[in-house]
Amino acid sequence: MFLLRPITRAAGHFRPLHTTSISSISESTHFLNKLRDLCTRHHLEEAFTLFHNCKSLHSPQAYATLFHACANSRSLKQGQALHQHMLIHNPFCANDMYTSNHVINMYAKCGSLECAQKVFDEMSERNVVSWTAMVSGFAQQGRGDDCFRVFSGMACECLPTEFAYASVLTVCDGDRGRQVHAFALKTSFDDYVYVANALITMYWNNYVDGGNDDDENFEAWVVFNGMHCKNLITWNAMIAGFQKSGCWVKALRIFSGMRHDGVEFDRATLLGVIASLWGRDSDDIGLGLQCCFQVHCLTIKTGFISEIGVTTALTKAYSNLGGAVADCYNLFLDSSGNRDVVSWTGIITTFSERNPEEALFLFRQFCQEGFSPDRYTYSIVLKACAGLVTERHASAVHSKVIKAGFDDDTILANSLIHAYARTGSIVKSQRVFDEMNFRDTVSWNSMLKAYGLHGQAKQALSTFDEMNAQPDATTFVALLSACSHAGLVDEGLKFFDAMVTKYGMAPKLDHFACIIDILGRAGRIPEAEKVIREMPMEADSVVWSTLLAACRKHGKTELANMAASKLMELDPERSLGYIMMSNIYCSSGSFGEAGLVRKKMKGQGVKKEPGLSWTEIGNQVHEFASGGLRHPQGEAIRKNLEELVKRLKGVGYVPETGLALHDVEEEHKEEQLYHHSEKMALVFALMNSGRSQCNDSVIRIMKNIRICVDCHNFMKFASGLIQMEIVVRDSNRFHHFRESACSCNDYW
Ligand code: ZN
Ligand code: ZN
Repeated sequence: MFLLRPITRAAGHFRPLHTTSISSISESTHFLNKLRDLCTRHHLEEAFTLFHNCKSLHSPQAYATLFHACANSRSLKQGQALHQHMLIHNPFCANDMYTSNHVINMYAKCGSLECAQKVFDEMSERNVVSWTAMVSGFAQQGRGDDCFRVFSGMACECLPTEFAYASVLTVCDGDRGRQVHAFALKTSFDDYVYVANALITMYWNNYVDGGNDDDENFEAWVVFNGMHCKNLITWNAMIAGFQKSGCWVKALRIFSGMRHDGVEFDRATLLGVIASLWGRDSDDIGLGLQCCFQVHCLTIKTGFISEIGVTTALTKAYSNLGGAVADCYNLFLDSSGNRDVVSWTGIITTFSERNPEEALFLFRQFCQEGFSPDRYTYSIVLKACAGLVTERHASAVHSKVIKAGFDDDTILANSLIHAYARTGSIVKSQRVFDEMNFRDTVSWNSMLKAYGLHGQAKQALSTFDEMNAQPDATTFVALLSACSHAGLVDEGLKFFDAMVTKYGMAPKLDHFACIIDILGRAGRIPEAEKVIREMPMEADSVVWSTLLAACRKHGKTELANMAASKLMELDPERSLGYIMMSNIYCSSGSFGEAGLVRKKMKGQGVKKEPGLSWTEIGNQVHEFASGGLRHPQGEAIRKNLEELVKRLKGVGYVPETGLALHDVEEEHKEEQLYHHSEKMALVFALMNSGRSQCNDSVIRIMKNIRICVDCHNFMKFASGLIQMEIVVRDSNRFHHFRESACSCNDYW
C-alpha cells in the first residue's frame, strides 16, 4: 500500500525514468540550439523570451550564449539584467569560470569596464581567457594605464596570448611598447605575425622623426626585417607608416619590395601608396608624377580604378603634384615606345573629368593607333561623354562597345545610362536599361537618377516599384531628389521614413539635404529648419545653401541671413552665400547692406563663377559668356537676339528686369539679363540651324550655373515661337522646353 501510492502519483505526473532522461537531454540540446540560432540571427528579444519561458533549462551554456549575444550587440542593459538574474536564480552558474569569462567579456565589450573588473576581481580562479578579455576591453577603450597594468598582472600569472599582446600594443607609448616588445622576445611571441604587425604599428604610432635617414636602427624597420613570415597587413602597416611620416619614396620602395616578393596587394595598400604621394618629401615633382602615373596604370591593370576611393585618391595626388595634367600628358608622350592600353587609359582618365573633349580626342587617337580599348577604357570614355553637350559622342562610343562585344557588360551599360541621361537623351538611357539582361543596384540607381534629372518623378517612382535589387543609400538620394525636383512633398517624406523604418538605413547628409530641399521648396521652412536642428551630424555647406535657397524663394530674410552666414563661414571661397545675401537685401530694399556684403565678398577675394553656356554646331562646341563677349560673332549674335526678343514680346514674353529675379547663382549684375549666355547660345544655334546636327529639331544647350527666371521664361516662349524643342542642362537639372512650356513645370 505504502509503496503503491507514490508510484501511482508519480506515474500520473512524470514519465518513466529512462524516457525522462533522454527527452530532457534532447530538450535541453534543442533549447540551446534554438537559443544559439536566434542569437546568431540577432533576434535578441526572442532569445530572451525563449530563455525566460524555459526556466528549468537554464544552464551555464545558456547564460554564456546570451552574454555572448549581448556583447556582440553591445546591449549593456540586457546583459546587466541577465547578470542579476543569474546571481539571484542560478548562483551556481556565477561560480563557473566559463560563464564568468562571458560576463567579463560582455561588460568589457559594452564598455562597462568597472563592472568587468569587479567580476574579474571576485573570481576564485582565472584563466588566459579572463585576462585577455580584460586586456582587450581596456585597449578598446583606449585606457592605456589600466590596460598595461592588467597586462603586467597577466604576464606574472600566465603566458599572455597573442591577442593580449596585440591589444596592449595598440595603447602603448614608446617606452611601454619597448617593454612589451622585450617580453615578447623573451616568450618568443615576437615570431607571431599578429604580434609583430602590432609591434610595427605601435612603433609607427610613436615614431618621432629625428631627421636622420638611418633606416637600420629604426625600430619598426628592425621588426619588419626580422620577420620570417610577413602578411599583407605587415606590408600595409609599413606603407601606411612611411606615408604618415611623409616619406613617399620609402613607401614606394616597400611597395615594390612587396610586389617583388609576389605578395598580392589590396585596396588599402594602393590607398596608402597613393596617399603617400600627397605629401611629398622630395622636391622631385617629375619623379613623383612618374610614380603616380605608374601606380595609376597599375590600378587600371588590376581593376581597382573602378573603385571611387581609388580614383579620388589618384586625382588628389595628381593635383597635389601641381595639378599637372599637362605634365602627365608629356610623361605619357615620352613613353611613346611602350605605350599600351593601360597607359592610354591612364592618360584618358586624367583628362576625363577636367577636359572631356580632350579625353575623347585622345580616345580617338588611341583607336587610330590600332589599340583595342578594354572595358575600363570604355567606362572612362563614357564618363567623359557624360560631360559633353550632345549624346552624339556617347552614341558613337556605344556602337563601338557593341562591336567589341561588351554590350552585355553591366558596368558599361550603367555608364551608358548615365552618359545618355547627362547629355539629355533620357529615351536612350531607358532603352539601354530596358535591354539589360542583368541589372545591379547601380543600374537601377542610374536610371532613377536619370529620371530625377529630367524631372520625370512619376517614372522614377514606378521604376523603384519594379526594382528587384537591394536599394542602397544612393537609391534614396535619387528618389528623394526626384521628388524634390517635381515637388512631390508627401512622397518624399514617405521615402525618407521608409528608408529608416523599412530598410533600416541611417540617413546621411545627402538624404537630409534632399529632405530639407523638399520641405523648403514647398515653403515648409520651419519643418526644414527643424530637420537641420535635429540632424545627428553637423550641417554642411550643401545643407545651408539648400535652406538659403528656400528662404530666398519664400522671403524668410532673417533665417536666410543665418544660413548665408553659416555658408560663408563653411565655404568662404564660394560666392553663393554672399550673392544670395546681397540679393535678399536688395529685394527687401536694403541696398546699403547689399553693398556691404558685396564689398566683403570682394575683400575676401571671392570671384563669382562667370555664367557660361555651350552648344554644338556641326561637330564643334561653341562657348558663350554673357554678352557674347567670348564669341567672334558676338556682334551678329546680339543683333539677332534683339530681333528675337522683339518677336517674343509679340507673343507675350515680358522681360524681367527686377534685380530680385536674379537667381541663385546669377550672372554679373552689370550684365544685362538680355545677354545671358544661354540666350546667346540659343540665338547662335538658330543662326546656324541649317548646319547644325539638330535635324531632330532639338537645340541642346549646356550651362554651368542655374538658369535664371528670365531666361527660363525666354526659352519657353522661344520653343513655341520657333516650334523646336530646346533642351537646357543647367548645373542642377534638365529643362525640356516644348510648345511654350517646360518639363520642370517651373519648379526648379
Ligand atoms: Zn538668365
Ligand atoms: Zn524648366
